[in-house]
Amino acid sequence: MISHRQLFQQYLAPTSDQPLAIEIERAEGVYLYGPAGEKYLDLISGISVSNLGHCHPRVNEAVQDQLQKYSHVMVYGEMIQAPQVKLAEALAARLPGKLSSTYFVNSGSEATEGAVKLAKRYTGRAKVIAFENAYHGSTQGALSLIGDESYRQNYRPLIPGHKHLPFNDMEALSEIDRDCACVMVESIPAEAGVRIPSPEFMKALRQKCSESGALLILDEVQTGMGRTGKLFAFEHFDIVPDIITLAKAFGGGLPLGAFVASPERMQALSHNPVLGHITTFGGNAIACAAGLAAFEYLTETRLYESVEEKAEQFKSLLVHERIREIRNKGLLMALDLEDPVYCKRVIDLCLAKGLFLDWFLFAAHCIRIAPPLIIESEDIQKACKIILESLDEAAD
Ligand code: PMP
Repeated sequence: MISHRQLFQQYLAPTSDQPLAIEIERAEGVYLYGPAGEKYLDLISGISVSNLGHCHPRVNEAVQDQLQKYSHVMVYGEMIQAPQVKLAEALAARLPGKLSSTYFVNSGSEATEGAVKLAKRYTGRAKVIAFENAYHGSTQGALSLIGDESYRQNYRPLIPGHKHLPFNDMEALSEIDRDCACVMVESIPAEAGVRIPSPEFMKALRQKCSESGALLILDEVQTGMGRTGKLFAFEHFDIVPDIITLAKAFGGGLPLGAFVASPERMQALSHNPVLGHITTFGGNAIACAAGLAAFEYLTETRLYESVEEKAEQFKSLLVHERIREIRNKGLLMALDLEDPVYCKRVIDLCLAKGLFLDWFLFAAHCIRIAPPLIIESEDIQKACKIILESLDEAAD
């Protein structure tokens, strides 16, 4: 009989020449299980998605419940669907300022597309600013914002009028002017290898946007939903964005994204032309039911308040001469090993010992540590022991 591995190789479009190609049969909590009894401790949460762990009972129950009612009734924005309106309300209650109008989409890339379109439409301006080593998605528009030339170069022409600034550089902010529709930035750039901006930079960025009328879009796709120790990472910097984008953990494990702005701004997408931005599946009822259950659990338990302590445990245990630096905000953590070849060896060795890690898109010399936020002390100890052993073995 043809194996799943063979089917994978034969029929699935590849995204790299070295896919992990590990089969997962089921997942629960912080563990992934393979068909032959393999067990992996998940330290990356499917890239910052499974913040509540896998198969969270509350999320599963909400999904099953909604499935019995309906899954899809009409394209987004026309019908009143309880999971959507409740999730939008819950979000508005936790977001500051006028951030109370949610446009649901399916993914982070789509949230980027919608947010930038909204900024252009609202301001009537064309110039868009992003940052070096930024990642905002893979669609053609989001690709124009990616701050890494090697990813952009084969897909030209990109959208004109985009400019990339060095991150965390005060002087560069003078580029933000009255031609600018928006500045898009990750609250904490993740794929760059977790680069924490200074609070002064974020404050100056906010001020410069306000002065010039450019909308400040904060990408919370990877940093949102408690990962950094606050519900949203921008709360660390005491600033309020004009638009935020959400995805990944926002759907509680199902595909869901959103961009959120003030009702007054969001109006701009609904006229001249009407249906200026539309999506068939955005805000799918099942995805929203999962997202709502996850959001309620996260906010009721305030799970994010335990995140910094867990991160501190990782940091206190991960002491090794080959670790050049650990950069983190909560459980979004980069172990900087300086050398990408060594880094890959360590990751492979950990995987062979049942620990699932990864690197970063623009920082292949760093190990990504972003476990489900529910991880407990015992599993943190277990993970760190495997990492330390592998750091030694990879050096031999
Ligand atoms: N923004 C950030 C910060 C991301 O990390 C990602 C995905 N890695 C995206 C946007 C794009 O999200 P998606 O893959 O859901 O399109």
